Order: sequence, then structure tokens, then C-alpha cells
Amino acid sequence: MISLRFYAELNDFLPPSRRQTTYTLQLKGQPTVKDVIESQGAPHPEIDLILVNNQSVAFDYRVQDGDRIAVYPEFELLDITSLSRLNSRPLRVPRFILDVNLGKLARKLRLCGFDCLYGNDYRDKQIIRMAARDKRIILTRDTGLLKNKQVTRGYWVRSTNPWDQMEQVLNKFSLHDRIKPFNRCMDCNGMIVSVAKDEIEDQLLAQTRKHFNAFYCCTSCHKIFWRGSHYQRMTDYLNRLMQSYRENLRHPSANYTAHP
Ligand SMILES: [Zn+2]
Repeated sequence: MISLRFYAELNDFLPPSRRQTTYTLQLKGQPTVKDVIESQGAPHPEIDLILVNNQSVAFDYRVQDGDRIAVYPEFELLDITSLSRLNSRPLRVPRFILDVNLGKLARKLRLCGFDCLYGNDYRDKQIIRMAARDKRIILTRDTGLLKNKQVTRGYWVRSTNPWDQMEQVLNKFSLHDRIKPFNRCMDCNGMIVSVAKDEIEDQLLAQTRKHFNAFYCCTSCHKIFWRGSHYQRMTDYLNRLMQSYRENLRHPSANYTAHP
């Protein structure tokens, strides 16, 4: 017999009866601690620290009878946001690659300026290869993808609702202070630069030409942007996102609604 306890948001992977509590398990053979943990649902990229009998161990540790195993997510996930903000660590802004189910999330993250690869025809193998090549974090709704042994950086997006998904990713990677709206193309992930009106005038509809003077262009797909009604809708969305973030800071418990 061994005992297991998962901490913080790793509980999201467990059935309700095993959340926020220590439970026992009958050991079969001599599995690695990674196999035991993943058999409970939590994929290894979400795990930062494993203690066995109060000693930290690696994923290849062989579990033995009587072991007490405690499993922790990345410490960034724990409620130390105020501490890390004091340190203001110059963390590199993370880059992402998203699985085929997360197209809406990819567009929203790009709107906020984050580098996101997404294709509705990406296969798992491609995602894993590109993530390793560019040091990208895999965002997915598929825990099976994260359990692939070649995956080192990944996050299981808990919600199916795009608004909640966006909040989860921004909170998880502390991205609110790094939002740079409207500098990346939502369609293709290319960078957006301003462009002189006379350079693109021939591509505009008469009404647009008449009412707008400031224009922007995607350096990758060459789509043209201006501050019309679409811009106003996206600005409203960003304002709501930041307002919700500030309310959560004032009432931190609201962050943890996923945990009953
Ligand atoms: Zn583009």
C-alpha cells in the first residue's frame, strides 16, 4: 500500500472523492512514481515537485511499499502571486502552441499579444515536435497529449468556455501585466505594424477610406486593420478581462472556483 496526496490545482484531475485529501492505493509491481501519478490522471508537465516520505524524488523513482507521496504543481500556481510580484522576476514571456480544439483561445491570446501557434489540422506528433523546437508550452484539452513522454511544457486547459479558458491561462502564467493588445494578428500570429494610408488606399472600401486615417497591416498575411467597430468590441473585451482580474485580486478565493 502507498498513500498519495495531490496539491492545489492538480486536484482537478482527480475524481471528487480523492480531491484535497490523502488516499491509499494498492501497489502493483514496482512502477515509477511518474507512472503512478499519471495513472491517477495528472499529466507530468503539470507537476513540479514530488515528495516521497518528505524527500524530493525524480520521475523515475521506483515506488515502494509504504511510500507517502505528495505531488505539487508548479509553484507559480500556488497562491504566492504577491510574492512573485515583489520579486518581479524577469520571466521570459511564454510562447504557446494550441491543440485543434482551442482555436478561439488562440485568437484571444494573440489579441493580447501572445505568440500562439495554432492550426485546425495539427496532429499531436506535429504539436509535440514544434513545441520542443521552439520551447513552446502546449495548451490542450487532452490530458493524453500531455502524458506523452516527449512533452516537457504543457498545461491542461480546464474549461470548455473560451472566456474561462482565457482567464485560466492568464492566471496560470501570470500574464496580465504582459498583455500588449493589437500588436499581433489574430488570424495568423504575425506582427502588426502601422502603415501609411496612401500605401494601401487602393485596397480600402470607399467608406473606410473616407472615415479613417490610421491603418495597420499584418507583416505576415498582409491583412489591413483600422479602429472601426471591431476594434471597439475587442477593446471592450480586454477591459472586461482586466476588470475581472482586478476583482479577483481583491477577492482571491474567486480564483479557485474549480476546487469544490
Ligand atoms: Zn496575419
